[in-house]
Amino acid sequence: MPSFEVAIVGGGLCGLSVAIALKNRSIPFTVYEARSSFTELGHGINIGPNALEAFRLIDSSLGEAIYKLCTRNAPGKEDVWFQIRFGAPSGKHHDGELIMELMSPPTGNMTVIRNELLQLLAEMAGLERARFNKKLVELSQDSSGVTLHFADSTQAHATVLIASDGIHSAARRAVLGASNPATEALYSGMGAYRAVVPMSVLSSSIGHEQARTSQIYLGPGAYVIMYPIERGKKVNVGFWPWRREPWHLREWTLPGQRIEMERDFAKWGATVHKIMNVMGDPSFFATHHHTVQPESLVEGRVCLIGDAAHSMPPHQGAGAGQAMEDAYVIAELLSKVDRQKPIQRQIDAAFKGYEAVRKQRSAKVAETSQEAMDWWTGFYNEDVSDEKIEQFTREADEKFRWIWHDDIAGQARSAIKIMEQLLEL
Ligand SMILES: Cc1cc2nc3c(=O)[nH]c(=O)nc-3n(C[C@H](O)[C@H](O)[C@H](O)COP(=O)(O)OP(=O)(O)OC[C@H]3O[C@@H](n4cnc5c(N)ncnc54)[C@H](O)[C@@H]3O)c2cc1C
Repeated sequence: MPSFEVAIVGGGLCGLSVAIALKNRSIPFTVYEARSSFTELGHGINIGPNALEAFRLIDSSLGEAIYKLCTRNAPGKEDVWFQIRFGAPSGKHHDGELIMELMSPPTGNMTVIRNELLQLLAEMAGLERARFNKKLVELSQDSSGVTLHFADSTQAHATVLIASDGIHSAARRAVLGASNPATEALYSGMGAYRAVVPMSVLSSSIGHEQARTSQIYLGPGAYVIMYPIERGKKVNVGFWPWRREPWHLREWTLPGQRIEMERDFAKWGATVHKIMNVMGDPSFFATHHHTVQPESLVEGRVCLIGDAAHSMPPHQGAGAGQAMEDAYVIAELLSKVDRQKPIQRQIDAAFKGYEAVRKQRSAKVAETSQEAMDWWTGFYNEDVSDEKIEQFTREADEKFRWIWHDDIAGQARSAIKIMEQLLEL
């Protein structure tokens, strides 16, 4: 049988998910990771209904394993994604008043610690298939496949490259060209003051009911988000203002931003001021994302997935969900490649199936994630009308339903059908 080896560049959430999916489908692979181990920075990540479904399709035991790792809202509120509240008084509405509960069954607000999830995925993928300190810097292609060139001057060869090397993707740069405007991730004009606060401290400050359930506060020109993590011991807090001045710094995170946060949220109500009081001296994280989508997510034997394909601002908590959908669909397609037959045509057809099913949906999620910042921050004024609340409630349901409740197994079936039709021609 001709050799068929998949290289996965980038062992983040997406890369390790595709690794598990390939392993379960008996497709040989190697993961090349730039770091010296699989590590995720940051705190909680929200797993939406579509992300959970994609995980289950990747490996049927993953759904259960994630339930064991995750933190959810308090009993009785498990299906609530966020309670949405006034962040300042508005006409007849008082500070902290509930606007709506946005429901997202079956997950509700399901949060896992990033690194705990990554370690679970690494264990399932199998460390023996990982190569560390392998930072991709360049790649070249010929009729036999892809040659990967690493920063340590070594090389590797594979039949196919799945590039999951994140927002700074070297693979994306290599296939699009450094001067292509779709290559660079740009500052989005917004960011978050972030802190993790002990639940006991926040509960004493604003009351247990709001502290123990995920909240979004809408107020003057910004929004505030918080949700329980670490099985309810802590709360992850993000204050999201616009900061429209251009971002010239190399670093995306600035420490010691208390004064700036107090300035940006001075006009907010008492609840948000109480939250600010327990945040210490938070950092500011400047959100970057690819503002220009590539014409294609595939090039020859290279396929971009996850943030390497479509990074997006986190205002819908949807980036990782799209990454998991990519991982599942591409693995299903590659499982249909018959290794006894010539490979090239089959890879072309598989990648066309991936592109047809995944590009438009992920681009739309990315686009609406950017628009969501306007939506969250555009709600509040000093006298919000009943009509505006009604409209907001209606839009909230419309905005998220199509992201959370798509037929992900159906995506793979459609992609495979396209692949098969192309191979019949
Ligand atoms: C503040 C914030 C909050 C978010 N919250 C949510 C949320 O609640 N829910 C949600 O669904 N999404 C969320 N997202 C989006 C989510 O974090 C990403 O979509 C997801 O982590 C992408 O995973 P990935 O594996 O594609 O990329 P990454 O996680 O970035 O992994 C890339 C991997 O590739 C490696 N790598 C990089 N370059 C190279 C190279 N040249 N060679 C080899 N390896 C390389 C890296 O070391 C890393 O291990 C959020 C994003 C942000 C910024």
